[in-house]
Amino acid sequence: MLEQKHSSGRFVLPGEQLGVIEEFMPESGTYVKDGIIHSKIVGYALIDFHDRKVSVYPRFHGARFPRVGSIVIGQVSNVQPQMATVRIFKVGKRPLSGFFTSMLHVSDVQLRFVESMFDVCRTGDIIRAEVISEKNRIYHLSTKGKSLGVVYAFCSNCGYMLEQKYRELYCARCGKVEKRKIAADYGRGII
Ligand SMILES: [Zn+2]
Repeated sequence: MLEQKHSSGRFVLPGEQLGVIEEFMPESGTYVKDGIIHSKIVGYALIDFHDRKVSVYPRFHGARFPRVGSIVIGQVSNVQPQMATVRIFKVGKRPLSGFFTSMLHVSDVQLRFVESMFDVCRTGDIIRAEVISEKNRIYHLSTKGKSLGVVYAFCSNCGYMLEQKYRELYCARCGKVEKRKIAADYGRGII
């Protein structure tokens, strides 16, 4: 009964009772009043029955998960003729602790017709995109718009970072010229 009452991972609000000091050591995110341990924050209770400790870890506010409309930063992990897979590692300005898988379809790259994803991005590129739909935690992206597209691209021949020259990108190391759908601030370090 007691163990159930103190289940770990339970969502708690400030002031909520978590246990008594005879049972547990109060740790981060808690306070003690009259021998009773309370949560100090909005979060999830973490009860360590082995070491008899209790803490509350915060529930993050805001866009910890990409949502429809979120501007995200990701790395291209795979490119097929019609589709690229992108690992989202940043939502807005917030870096994520893990990454989310997303897809960019060739029809969502720009308003004009695009024949092949290989003219849009390559594996390893860093891309800025908007989330346009989500289903079963798979996100679909769009790079329509001037501020969206590849922000860093790497030479498919030698891996060197490509520099922008007019509407194309070139490799200062091996001289290869490549195409991408680039963002207006390509290569300026703003991700
Ligand atoms: Zn190169």
